Amino acid sequence: MSLFDKFSLRGKVAIVTGGNRGIGKAIALGFAEAGAVVAVVARDEKKNEDTLAELRGMGANAIALTANVAERSDLEAMLRTVTDELGPVDVLVNNAGIGFHADALTLDDADWRRIFDINLDAVWMASQIVGRQMVARKAGSIINSGSISGLIVNRPQWHSAYGVSKAAVHHLTKSLAAEWASKGVRVNAIAPGYVKTEIANTEYDDYRHYWRDEVPMQRYATPDEIAPIALLLASDAGSFITGSVFVVDGGYTLW
Ligand code: NDP
Repeated sequence: MSLFDKFSLRGKVAIVTGGNRGIGKAIALGFAEAGAVVAVVARDEKKNEDTLAELRGMGANAIALTANVAERSDLEAMLRTVTDELGPVDVLVNNAGIGFHADALTLDDADWRRIFDINLDAVWMASQIVGRQMVARKAGSIINSGSISGLIVNRPQWHSAYGVSKAAVHHLTKSLAAEWASKGVRVNAIAPGYVKTEIANTEYDDYRHYWRDEVPMQRYATPDEIAPIALLLASDAGSFITGSVFVVDGGYTLW
């Protein structure tokens, strides 16, 4: 197998949660380009359909599913539909996530819970549900969306719940990687720095000094700079990589 062939996802079935925009969409399109059969999973039907049209426009075999990743029943239905329509899952990208800023003194329990429901519990539940199938087949790659916010405390904004949820995703990644390494399933996370997407679309200008100018590379990332790392982790090119948290931050965490 040539070096480039190792990056191929030809014939592999991949689920990308939150694949209808931002980083998830870039990963879904990148996987399709690498030959994967792709299922995009998110709540907004219109955006799902638009992304599906783009995927099919590339000639990809793809489906889009409307689901709330915070609901176990939606995730179970997701696995059933993908398996029936596309085949067993080779790659799961737990990318769906939310973020908002809130001072610790006023953050209420409902908002704290909302972050964990989507950013952590959904990653856990999807990994367990799809992981059971992967372990039974002794093959699979799970890629979780972590963040530099799980490694450092961001400034000037406060978002303790977000940071804690991502730190927990990093540790969940390592725990599952250790548990499933001998069962043929690899589990890794990507920890991006600031990527320009809708997750914080109003703040990029307000916080430009901290989020962009102080980054060693002095710019934001684009979603298509995260997708190649997902491809490495999804494909045979990453066959010896498990339990890693890949930092992709233009040097943000260097100082
Ligand atoms: P966006 O806000 O652009 O996209 C978020 C995606 O998640 C959308 O597709 C959204 O679709 C989906 N989503 C959110 N909640 C749910 C839910 N309950 N069920 C199903 N899908 C859901 O975010 P980004 O692309 O910026 O971020 C993607 C991931 O990367 C997140 O986990 C984020 O925390 C992480 N990240 C982002 C960084 C950045 O700077 N942008 C930096 C570090 C990490 P819909 O609303 O239709 O459901």
